[in-house]
Amino acid sequence: MKTLFFDMDGVLVDLYGFLSREWGITSKEVQTHSPRIFRMYTEWLHSFGSPAEAFLSLPPLYPDDMKRLILDTKEAGFRVEILTHLGIESPHQVEWGKRQWLDTHFRSFVRKGVISQVNCVVESSEKALFAGPGALLVDDNSLNVAQFRGAGGQAVLYQAETHRESIAEVRQHLSL
Ligand SMILES: [Mg+2]
Repeated sequence: MKTLFFDMDGVLVDLYGFLSREWGITSKEVQTHSPRIFRMYTEWLHSFGSPAEAFLSLPPLYPDDMKRLILDTKEAGFRVEILTHLGIESPHQVEWGKRQWLDTHFRSFVRKGVISQVNCVVESSEKALFAGPGALLVDDNSLNVAQFRGAGGQAVLYQAETHRESIAEVRQHLSL
């Protein structure tokens, strides 16, 4: 059976759009992960009571379209899972925040098993461990996409700026 793995930051969660609005810079600049951005990100995390609270404050990205896509994927007989990376900064706290976030924005999906599983990895490169025949990753990070393909999986590079095209590409892969 085919399994669709959804990334969270930059795909389901509007992390980069939110921070770019917050900091008055472009979303592309946020994604450079330069030392300056990393400092700003760490400061932002610490401005909350915990990293989990910081994550919970983030809005979803195109929630109606994403929910439709997940439901259509599930109805077509595929499995839907989350594959998200936590980072080295307080991974346990971030994981808790991410699970809470899913329970807030995709509650019925998690509780009714539409989303079968939530997989968390500490390093991005570990996402490739989930690759294999029948695995399709939807991720906004081109390195993750390349590594997943290199490990024998299929992957779609999701880009919020061209959201419709990205969704169409996923649907094409699944013949939806
Ligand atoms: Mg991402």
